[in-house]
Amino acid sequence: MERTTCLVVGGGPAGMILGLLLARAGVEVTVLEKHKDFLRDFRGDTVHPTTLDLLDELGLGAEFAKLPARKLDQVQLPVGGGVQTFVTLKNLPGKHKYIAMVPQWDLLDLLARAAAAEPTFRLRMNTEATDLIWIDGRVGGIAYRTRDGATGAIEADLTVACDGRGSVLRSAAGLPTRKWSTPMDVWWFRLPRTEIDPAGALPIVTARRVAVLLDRGDYWQCATLIAKGADESARRGPVEDIMRTLADAAPWLRDRVDALTSWDQVKLLEVKLDRLTKWYTGGLLCLGDAAHAMSPAGGVGINLAVQDAVAAARILAAPLLAGTVGTKELAKVQRRRRFPTVVTQAMQRFLHAWAIAPALDGRIDIAGAPRAPMPVRVLRRIPVLRSVPPFLIARGIRPEHAPHFARCV
Ligand SMILES: Cc1cc2nc3c(=O)[nH]c(=O)nc-3n(C[C@H](O)[C@H](O)[C@H](O)COP(=O)(O)OP(=O)(O)OC[C@H]3O[C@@H](n4cnc5c(N)ncnc54)[C@H](O)[C@@H]3O)c2cc1C
Repeated sequence: MERTTCLVVGGGPAGMILGLLLARAGVEVTVLEKHKDFLRDFRGDTVHPTTLDLLDELGLGAEFAKLPARKLDQVQLPVGGGVQTFVTLKNLPGKHKYIAMVPQWDLLDLLARAAAAEPTFRLRMNTEATDLIWIDGRVGGIAYRTRDGATGAIEADLTVACDGRGSVLRSAAGLPTRKWSTPMDVWWFRLPRTEIDPAGALPIVTARRVAVLLDRGDYWQCATLIAKGADESARRGPVEDIMRTLADAAPWLRDRVDALTSWDQVKLLEVKLDRLTKWYTGGLLCLGDAAHAMSPAGGVGINLAVQDAVAAARILAAPLLAGTVGTKELAKVQRRRRFPTVVTQAMQRFLHAWAIAPALDGRIDIAGAPRAPMPVRVLRRIPVLRSVPPFLIARGIRPEHAPHFARCV
């Protein structure tokens, strides 16, 4: 059987950051990713100021700056036929006063290249963990299957599940989970974008449609919210209806009402919100969405996953090197990251209940209203309150910094 010190399952933001940081500490680390590359659509593209700071600390800021990024420094709301600024990040403390919108595969490729420079790092693409291996009552590694059908097993001192919201490993471990219902699922599709379109992220809320358009340069990545479970019946209707309702709210989209011609262009993403009550068992730790599946509300799940990985690397590197990692250290990671997770998920539940569900029920129509809703107007008028949403969205709760062993600056 193959063997490593730390086996990270899942090459998403959490897994790649953890792999890189542990390798820089000199820990033998293998990351498994089930896909052949990182080139998948429908990943969140947001890189938050705390992650940008982290990349600087890791000496990757200059490399990152070469990626095709759009800088999102404000959120605008279409109101009464016009567009109003809802949140601005321009007054944030720190060097990065914006969220970088970068295709996630570019970020993951960059992390993979940086990690490949470390002699103790190994990345195995096309390799899917299928089950846990138990040795003397604790997790001793995983069984895997490769894309060409080969099977095998890898033993490890510690296995870290970073395999996302459908985590196979956390199910196999039977860790207790708390779940919350969510009012929505998401349709995800692309639209052409012109240089005279508005820029940045653009939420559209009407009585018939709730959507967010994300500026990706020459196209818009569109997330349209639908009521939970409504996909099947909606697909019996005309797909053109999606663009017609969007164009009613945002008239500058009228020249693109024919952009969607087939339901194949519209992907369904099921939204989940849950959290493990215990993130670990002997030999296994869950991080990122595998420990706490995040809703897209607020676009903060990637940042939280990255921060989990940084904290875990800082706490676990020394015990992994010494061969002494046990449940005490794993519990320490959970203690460190539970609070930001609880608060962030509480904010998402608030957004679900007070903004998304009423909008999906047709009780809120911001685009059709003559002026912005009252909470938005209050936020805009009171400077102290105005700074809270940008700070929470952009920097999050309890940001983590690169441990000394991983720093290049
Ligand atoms: C519709 C939608 C839109 C979202 N938009 C945003 C956004 O704009 N901004 C934001 O911050 N958050 C967003 N989120 C939340 C965000 O996607 C997650 O919180 C974040 O991706 C979690 O990162 P992760 O590394 O924990 O997991 P993931 O990003 O899910 O990565 C898991 C990785 O593990 C791999 N994997 C899975 N199973 C296995 C296995 N068995 N073996 C090997 N590899 C495996 C997967 O291929 C994947 O690469 C969105 C969520 C949804 C549902």
